[in-house]
Amino acid sequence: MMGPAHSLSGAAAWLVAGAVAAAAGHPMPWPTLVVGALICAGAALAPDLDHKAATISRAFGPFSRALCGIIDGIAHAAYKATRKKGDPRRSGGHRTLTHTWLWAAFLGCGCSAAAVFGGCWAVLGILFVHMVLAVEGLLWRQARVSSDVLVWLLGASSAWVLADALDDPGNGKDWLFTQPGQHYMWIGMPIVLGALVHCLGDALTVSGCPILWPIPVGRKRWYPVGPPKFMRFRAGSWVEVKVLTPVFFVLGGASALGALGVIG
Ligand SMILES: [Zn+2]
Repeated sequence: MMGPAHSLSGAAAWLVAGAVAAAAGHPMPWPTLVVGALICAGAALAPDLDHKAATISRAFGPFSRALCGIIDGIAHAAYKATRKKGDPRRSGGHRTLTHTWLWAAFLGCGCSAAAVFGGCWAVLGILFVHMVLAVEGLLWRQARVSSDVLVWLLGASSAWVLADALDDPGNGKDWLFTQPGQHYMWIGMPIVLGALVHCLGDALTVSGCPILWPIPVGRKRWYPVGPPKFMRFRAGSWVEVKVLTPVFFVLGGASALGALGVIG
């Protein structure tokens, strides 16, 4: 899928999680719901950091371009080192290491640990990166014509405002993990969810997604998970724009109302 569909599916997934949490007796305060949805929308672009042309690789100028090169190299090396006989040879790392459940878990745990031990600057940093990505993903066309600096300013200011909203007592920093010293521990959850939703979205497209790695399937360790061939579509096709996008909107909207206790 392309950037906007990935981001929208990420936001919708967190809103669904909010509705489920409310039904399970752990309703999210509104800042947790809103910030989580935006983080998840941004995190749903993150796996494509292994591709030069992807939104995330262009989002932070030379810094993200350099990081993209490093990640692509690591992913390609991991592919070559762990491929079994059934895995085809390949020339780059796109859709390998960063498109697995293990990578999602690694990023989520890393960000939770950073938020818990790193204090407010770590939280602001995580928010800044994901807000910039959310703006790039959700306002795709608009963000493309405006300058990078403008998007960064928007990301920084929204990170600042949202971190402030979360920080007030009862407003979400201690959602789900309520013990002292566990503030912001939940912040890794939308990051894991966003990465997994990205992988599922890619799995629906023609090439599939090796989400299970390193668990082998038959003669392949990088087994491309996906539905039967006739159910798959090309990235950016009409299915994505005309069918999936409206579905994500309706699903997200209904879930948000459920999460906030308006319906349900
Ligand atoms: Zn991808």
